[in-house]
Amino acid sequence: MRKPFVAGNWKMNTDSHSSVALAEAVAAGSSGFAGSSVDVAVIPPFVYLQAVAKAVSSSHIGLGSQDIYFEQNGAFTGEISALMLKDIGCTYVLCGHSERRHVIGETDELVNKKITAAIAGGLLPIFCVGELIEQRKAEKTTEVITQQIEAGLAGLSTEKVSAVTIAYEPVWAIGTGLTATSEQAQETHCLIRQLLAKMYSEQLAQEIRIQYGGSVKPGNAAELMAQKDVDGLLVGGASLKADDFLAIIQAAA
Ligand code: PEP
Repeated sequence: MRKPFVAGNWKMNTDSHSSVALAEAVAAGSSGFAGSSVDVAVIPPFVYLQAVAKAVSSSHIGLGSQDIYFEQNGAFTGEISALMLKDIGCTYVLCGHSERRHVIGETDELVNKKITAAIAGGLLPIFCVGELIEQRKAEKTTEVITQQIEAGLAGLSTEKVSAVTIAYEPVWAIGTGLTATSEQAQETHCLIRQLLAKMYSEQLAQEIRIQYGGSVKPGNAAELMAQKDVDGLLVGGASLKADDFLAIIQAAA
């Protein structure tokens, strides 16, 4: 039985005051179910991680980072390592978010190095995959997702991959207000699970959690969560409003 997992990716939003206020509101509002019937994480910008870590320290809210570099330390100006993220209380890290793939230019190879480094450093990666609208229209979704999963997890053992949560985020649904239908989400989640069974084992495929992300809102969270292979939600815009994020968590719990 896979426990639902809801994470809020704040992207490049909030400030020193509002990040703490939002974290406190989420912690207070989810105290009845976070950790027991649903895992919850917030993923603030790097500079607010420590303040948010303090704000959620006596709650069951996990802390995640939006990115990571694959080296441990050294001359890598501007980068942040797994060691540093662990040191300040992070549990999760996003790897391969579509904005990093398509705005910053991250490749599958770089994403694989980041996932590998995150696991080696004791973090739990949330590995994002998803197709562009042109790829979906050209019926290339299966091909794209297969390539991203195989390349992103290359060289990782079954034991290591069990630390990973996969987030299926169709790029055309992120921040656009367009959501994949629950059937489209289920179809791709099922494909990912079958792929994992082929690459590793049926047991791993049944145990790994697969989140859906892309314009998740209080109004569509329950229907998405009702799908057999949807185990959680990765939420962008709606995670910036405590009430909306709490309603989404409740729908998943
Ligand atoms: C995301 O940032 O991962 C995301 C899914 O964003 P949104 O919910 O705003 O589409």
